[in-house]
Amino acid sequence: MIDQVVILLGPPGSGKGTQARRLSADLGVPHVATGEMFRSNVEDDTELGRRARGFMESGRLVPDELVTEMLFVRVAAEDCSCGYVLDGFPRTLGQAEALDRGIEGRWGASVASLEVPDAALVERASGRLLCRNDGNHIYHASFSPPASEGICDQCGGELYRREDDVPEVVAARLGVYREQTAPVLEHYAQAGHLLGVNGDQAPDEVYRTLRAALEGESRENSALEGSTTEGGE
Ligand code: ADP
Ligand code: ADP
Repeated sequence: MIDQVVILLGPPGSGKGTQARRLSADLGVPHVATGEMFRSNVEDDTELGRRARGFMESGRLVPDELVTEMLFVRVAAEDCSCGYVLDGFPRTLGQAEALDRGIEGRWGASVASLEVPDAALVERASGRLLCRNDGNHIYHASFSPPASEGICDQCGGELYRREDDVPEVVAARLGVYREQTAPVLEHYAQAGHLLGVNGDQAPDEVYRTLRAALEGESRENSALEGSTTEGGE
């Protein structure tokens, strides 16, 4: 699966980062996570980080212009030239339409949505631990704890809890997801593009389900292309 953008959608804590990291390693394409890009801008105290910070702390979305500009600069880089896995983008209809325009005619897109009940989301977010060296090294205090408390198994970095993973902000983020991101799911569903994936299983099972859905779709597309070619001859 190359020359393909894979878009992973799902509410906060649904496992997008966990699955996207594995998928990008297996497909050999970058994992592009807008939340992680913002967190590193906040950490480095850049102009973008200063503008995004207040929105992130209260669980609101960063305005579309800031997000889309950052995203398009990132995916124009050479390492994204054979495809990439998007995690956390698009989150509004405006972002989805900007992405459609950005990839039109050049890329195919596969869109998968991780489905997880709200109670599990709150539990996942409240135990989430991230590595300070690489925010895509993701743990959970109960479900996937590191071997040594507070230390990343993969690189020895310090583990921390996100400030927006406290219950009030998680609740706000879930509300934002329902209001502003649900129309994005609808947008892809109407285009016949949305693959629903049961995210309420162990991570390995979710990954198997996700891969099977992506591969099923790509087989279907090749069959369709085959029949179009035959019909055109
Ligand atoms: P989650 O793990 O809850 O899905 P992310 O790490 O993707 O969260 O995002 C954290 C925060 O960064 C969001 O609550 C929001 O403030 C900001 N953010 C990330 N991606 C976007 C986006 N595509 N549009 C607007 N804001 C975003
Ligand atoms: P998102 O990027 O969608 O916000 P993450 O991948 O960061 O989600 O996962 C949120 C938390 O839930 C992390 O602590 C992660 O270790 C844990 N987690 C991810 N997938 C699962 C799963 N299938 N079952 C249980 N916990 C999970």
